[in-house]
Order: sequence, then structure tokens, then C-alpha cells
Amino acid sequence: MWLRVAAAGAGAGAGGSRAASGAAAAQLRRRLEGELEGIRGAGTWKSERVIASPQGPHLRLAGGGDAGILNFCANNYLGLSSHPQVIRAAVRALEEFGAGLSSVRFICGTQSIHKELEEKIARFHQREDAILYASCFDANAGIFEALLTPEDAVLSDELNHASIIDGIRLCKANKYRYKHMDMQDLEAKLQDAQKHRLRLVATDGAFSMDGDIAPLREICQLAQKYDALVFIDECHATGFLGPNGRGTDELLGVMDKVTIINSTLGKALGGAAGGYTTGPKPLIDLLRQRSRPYLFSNSLPPAVVGCASKALDLLMESNAIAQSMAAKTQRFRSKMTAAGFTISGKDHPICPVMLGDARLAAVMAEDMLSRGIYVIGFSYPVVPKGKARIRVQISAVHSDEDIDRCVEAFTEVGRKHGALP
Ligand code: PLP
Repeated sequence: MWLRVAAAGAGAGAGGSRAASGAAAAQLRRRLEGELEGIRGAGTWKSERVIASPQGPHLRLAGGGDAGILNFCANNYLGLSSHPQVIRAAVRALEEFGAGLSSVRFICGTQSIHKELEEKIARFHQREDAILYASCFDANAGIFEALLTPEDAVLSDELNHASIIDGIRLCKANKYRYKHMDMQDLEAKLQDAQKHRLRLVATDGAFSMDGDIAPLREICQLAQKYDALVFIDECHATGFLGPNGRGTDELLGVMDKVTIINSTLGKALGGAAGGYTTGPKPLIDLLRQRSRPYLFSNSLPPAVVGCASKALDLLMESNAIAQSMAAKTQRFRSKMTAAGFTISGKDHPICPVMLGDARLAAVMAEDMLSRGIYVIGFSYPVVPKGKARIRVQISAVHSDEDIDRCVEAFTEVGRKHGALP
């Protein structure tokens, strides 16, 4: 009844939308429009292309007819986002366990599949236990505040992901920011932090803008020397870095030295959604009691759990998919370098094609799309001024022909716009 009265009383605008009236609402609207204009004026407006097909190496864009677009900008590193077995597992979980839990975990939201997935994640990373979150953003938002007090210190790489930065902001520990992958600076900050009860070094395992890998061996050595713990965010590593895809710690031989891992189920591990923390059992137990994004947010939907669980099964059965992605990455990096481009990072499927100039990156990315290759240009403020690039991401499901087509298009477009001689 109330709903009907409210609906009848308020005036609907074009297309059925309703605008609140009153001076405060008008003032807010003016302020927001001004801010949006500022973003457009600064050239940092982010638009969203609409995809009309499943995620994969070949996409159909909405309104783009049937022409296939070759996709080189998803985090679908292993091609599992649309893997038939992953999809079937999601459908089975949906049918068996329903659409969702309508509850947080500790009230009425823990199903057997949540426990199984947590156990599987811990086994995959060879850790004691794991806890699921709705996203890795939530896992990062929820760990520092639960773990660290004003007596403790956290030392964070300056280029860590936004969710680590936000998570650290929420905690009351003493905060140190060290220069990107600069071990001298980290050591100086660790010396200063000796006065605190506990020290936690926090770093991305692989950095998503540059495709560079944290020097975990050196970080772990310093952590040992200064009695610190090491936390890594493995969103761009889990499933494919290291001989068995365990991540940066496996790649660099420090699995027994990294204490805490946060990662996502929304990239290589099926690409649906979700995140987790894995590490010592008492830490996981504490997070279940204290971590706010876990305590006060809905459980992961069964279909999403089904996807991730199957993705992990596939990875634990064989490392063939991860190996195939590594070979494709190598092919792209070496052919692009031979063509005269500079590719940042090393051995990582994030392959930033460094161009320097923001306009050049934007124009080249548009021209690549007109040739059927979907890549994205990044410029300031997402990356430092003068370091604009087009970020290419390789997937295990790209064929050699896909990669060669991408390199050929880059070469043509690079010549046309003066990025290559
Ligand atoms: N950490 C890093 C390094 C990321 O790149 C991302 C996603 O972009 C996240 C955390 C957040 O992951 P999720 O999408 O699961 O929230």
C-alpha cells in the first residue's frame, strides 16, 4: 500500500526515473555535474564497452554486429572464465544449493561447498586454513584492521593496489610506505619500525600496471633480519606463476617464508567473483570473529563457489594450462620486442607496451580496435605522467595465430602513429 501511494505521489521523469526535489537535491546535482565535468575536462573519464558475449579471447561487442573482436585486456589468464567444466560446476551448484544464502556466514550462510572451497584454497597454497570474502577488495579491506593495533607497524609498497591502501587506512597501526620494490628504502623503514611490537610488510606479488614481480626473496630476507611478517596480494599471480601456478611465492621459492596470502577468485580462478585470505589457522579464526567485510556481508553465491572450486580442481590436476599461458606470453613478448616495442616487466602475462605519450596510447588503442583487437591505453593518473602505455594481457586460450595477429596490428598501428620507425 505504502509503495503504491509513494509511486503515485512522486513525479516520474522520462523513462520512468524519479528525481528528488528540493534545494539540497538541486545543490547536490549541480555539485555532482561539476565534478563529472571536471573528470571529463581532465581527460580521465573511464567509459565502459558493452560486451554481448561470454568472456573469452573472442568477443562480440554490443551494437558491433557479429564481427569477432580479439580480446587482450581481461584478467582471464587461464581462459577458465568460460571453460565448459567451470560453467557446468556453477550450474550444478546453483541447482543443488540455490541462488544465494540471504545471510552472512555466521548467521545462516555457511554451506558445505563454502567449507570445501576454503579447504581447497588452503591446500592449493599449502597453508593451514583459508577464509572466503565477496571479493579480494574485501579481503584486503578486512585484514589489516583485524590484525594490527596501534602497537604494530605495516610497511607497504607505494604502488600497492588501491584495496591494500584502503585496508591499511582503516587500521590503527603505524604506517610506513616504502619506494616501489626499493629494498634499501624498505630496510631503512624496517629499522625505524623496530620500536613497534609487530611488523608486517605488505606487497602485491605482481603489480598490475607494470607486470613486474615483487622481489620476494629479498623482502623475505629483510623480514627475517628485522623480525617481520610478509603479506602478499596474489591477484595477478594465483593460478599461473610458479611451476604449479601457486603464485609468486612458489615462483621465487619462498612459500615457507610468506605468512599471509590474499587473492581473488575473479581473475585466473574462473573469473566469477570472490576473494580470500589464506595463512595460519589462528589468523583465519580471528578474521572470522573480527573482519568486518566478512562479518557484515552476504556469503558467496553457490554458483560462484562452484566456478572457483572447479577451477582449482583443474589446476591441481595438471599444470598444463599454466604452462601454455607462459609459452604464449613468451611468444608475445619476444615478437613485440623484435618489432621494436618496449614491453615492461618480465615473464608476466601483463605486457605493458610502453609508449610514453598519453594521446599516442589512446589513439593507438582506438586504432587497434578498428582492426578488431581490443586493448586498453592507460595514462596519468592511473600510471605516472610520461609513462602512458597500452596494457596487453595474454591468456592460455589465445592461439598462436591470435598473438601473431595482435603483434602485426601493433606493428602497423605503431608505424602509422610514429611509435615505430
Ligand atoms: N588486488 C589486486 C592487486 C587487484 O588487481 C585487484 C583487482 O583488480 C584486487 C585486489 C581486487 O580484487 P577483486 O576484484 O576480487 O575485488
